[in-house]
Amino acid sequence: MPLKIWMNGVLVDESQAKVSVFDHGLLYGDGVFEGIRVYAGRVFELAAHLKRLYESARAIRLDIGMRLEDLTRAVEETVAANGISEGYIRLIVTRGVGTLGLNPFNCRNAQIIIIADQIQLYPKELYETGIKVVSASTLRNHPMSLSPQVKSLNYLNNILAKIEALDNNVPEAIMYNHEGFVAEASGDNVFVIRHGTVLTPPPQAGSLEGITRDIVMTLATKLQIPVVEENLTRFDLYVADEIFLTGTAAEVIGVVNIDGRMVGDGRPGPITQKLREAFYRYARGS
Ligand code: PMP
Repeated sequence: MPLKIWMNGVLVDESQAKVSVFDHGLLYGDGVFEGIRVYAGRVFELAAHLKRLYESARAIRLDIGMRLEDLTRAVEETVAANGISEGYIRLIVTRGVGTLGLNPFNCRNAQIIIIADQIQLYPKELYETGIKVVSASTLRNHPMSLSPQVKSLNYLNNILAKIEALDNNVPEAIMYNHEGFVAEASGDNVFVIRHGTVLTPPPQAGSLEGITRDIVMTLATKLQIPVVEENLTRFDLYVADEIFLTGTAAEVIGVVNIDGRMVGDGRPGPITQKLREAFYRYARGS
């Protein structure tokens, strides 16, 4: 069945869901977005995703032009209209239709799009075997140019890192910041386990404050596994006992090799597995 896409207040068939060539989201990547999961019929952490969306929009002076309560309802309506009980939502807000120049204030209304569909980021087996990653030479955006906290429609920085990964026949790349510290993966947060402690870079290192990241940190604390936010170097990754990535689409996935160095014994480690299971239980409310 064709999907129903929510566009500016109306549910339309996917074949009718089109954007103008004058939309500044298309012309300049001028806009913000969220990726959100649906687990067991519930939109997962919707309030946290919408909070981040409004904050990203605020940071780039984009007026979403819709109240939080109404956007919440629109997301739920789109999920229901597509009969999604396990899936993935892409919520996009562009600056809207403007003129060919950069001036964002020529765009009269933000354009809001909600897509509710399925996603399988990595094949299932990779969650059992873990993934290989490489260090990207592309640095994460400098926070004084565009804050990595802004989940903008311009993902070229991350796409260039992803290309480096794919060129090396691995699915993900680790991005470093301008100081050489670990920032994040191209679309996921990075965690390291060393001597029983879970370590992850602070947001100031250039990592998006991931919603999955926050949940995993809380779950680890509940399981009495110490969690510390600190700057990590490439060496820290090379000597880690375990590494895993978190993200809405990726969920929790172990890393078993970085830059040709095996992590631990080459399989997702025990703390990674424990946190992965705890995450799934939490996501499904069980
Ligand atoms: N970093 C980047 C660059 C991302 O795009 C994402 C989301 N895909 C994440 C981290 C993970 O954030 P979340 O857990 O909120 O999906």
